[in-house]
Formats: sequence, C-alpha cells, structure tokens
Amino acid sequence: YRRPVVSGNWKLNPMTSGEAKETLKLLAANQRALEESGKDIPEVILFPPYPFIPLASELLEGTTVAIGGQDCSLHDKGAFTGEVSVSQLASLGCNHLLVGHSERRTLFDETDVEVNKKVHLGLNAGLRVMICIGETEDEFNVNLADAVNEIQVKKALAGVTAAQMEDITIAYEPVWAIGTGKVCDAPTAQEVHSAVRRVLDELYPNTGVAGRTRILYGGSVTPESIDVIMREPDVDGVLVGGASLMADKFSRIIDFS
Ligand code: 13P
Repeated sequence: YRRPVVSGNWKLNPMTSGEAKETLKLLAANQRALEESGKDIPEVILFPPYPFIPLASELLEGTTVAIGGQDCSLHDKGAFTGEVSVSQLASLGCNHLLVGHSERRTLFDETDVEVNKKVHLGLNAGLRVMICIGETEDEFNVNLADAVNEIQVKKALAGVTAAQMEDITIAYEPVWAIGTGKVCDAPTAQEVHSAVRRVLDELYPNTGVAGRTRILYGGSVTPESIDVIMREPDVDGVLVGGASLMADKFSRIIDFS
C-alpha cells in the first residue's frame, strides 16, 4: 500500500502575503472539514514561496497539511546573498523539500549534479525530498521519455541508500504538460510511472523500495482530471501548480475519488 499524496507547488505566487493569507485561511477551513468527515484522505503537502512559509504554518496549524520549501541553496550558511538553506527551512517547521523542478532546471540552469547535492542536503537536514523529473515535448515526440526519466532518476538518486529512500518521493512532470492545460493522458502517465518504478527496482533490487516509493504525476492537474489519473495503479498522487492557488480547486483535488 502506498498512501496517496496531493501536493501543491505555488511557485512564484501569489504576489502578496494578503492574498496568500486569504487562500490559506480557506484551504485550512476546507481541510478541517475534510478531516472531520471521516473520509480516507491523502497526505497533503504545500510548497509556498519562502517568505510565506511562516504564514502557511500558522494558518494550517491543526490540519494535517505539511509544508515544504520549493528549492534550497547548495550552501548551508555564510556569504551567499539571496540564498535559503535546508537548515533554515527545517527550523521554520518544514518537513519537505522539492528539488529538480523543470523550471529550476531550464530557467536557472540547474544540473543533475546540483539536484543530487540538494537531495542529500535535504535528507541530511531531516527533510523528506520530492524529486521532479520529466521530459520535454521534443523528447516525448521522439520516444525519449523513458530514457530521459531514467537518467534523471539515476543521477538524482546517486549515493542515496535504500533506507534513505523511505524519505524520497518522485514527481513525474512532463515539461509539455506544465501550465499548458495539456494534461498527460492517464495511460501514458501510467506507462512512464511503471518504467520509473522499474528503474527503482534496478537501483534497489530486493529491498521493496520500488514497491514502496510514491511516484506522483504533475502537469495541468485540475479537479476535472484528478479522478481519472488517480485510477492508474502506479500513479500515487499529484503535484499541482496553478490549481493549488485556488483553495476550493485544491481541496477538490485533495478530495479525489
Ligand atoms: P501546473 O499544474 O500549473 O501545470 O504546474 C505543474 C507543476 O509544475 C507543479 O510543480
């Protein structure tokens, strides 16, 4: 059994703490109602922008929603203006860290080696790490999805032990499905997820890791597409961008069936 995860990545949104506060209040109220309903609910993780982390912790207190950082510095402290470290995130009550998002990889030239360093920094700081992988549209069109995802998984997990895999989640986010409204169809996502699981089995044979690791889907997930994608056996949850900014939409996704 793999407990489903619904996670929200707010990216560089919203523009003000006032707007963040309104969304968080509504999300907290929805979440309390859902938790009191007695339904089976997924694990929920929210990745707000760094400055809104204390606000999110405060307003979501008393709910089961956990908070994480969207990225982290490669450094732990010192003269690195503008950076935020894993220690700082952990000290604010974050339990999670997102690494390797395609926006970091493409817009900020993040390499697989850096992603791997951040994975280790997060684990060593006691954070649970969600690693994003995913192919571009060109790669998808020439059938390179599995090859690209295999390389990204292997490089991100270099030096990660089977025991440490308990704290790792993989998020498959095809770049062509992010923010485009072009949601990957469920059977295609299933194929990629099962291929990623085979890679985990190759990396950690006879450990149960492949069967236990949660593999999430991300890319244009909405209340309309959640139920279908969650029916695939190897889709263990979702990483939601745009729709996580609207509390009612995000709560409906959390309440998938
Ligand atoms: P959208 O849900 O806006 O497509 O974003 C997905 C994503 O990149 C989450 O990390």
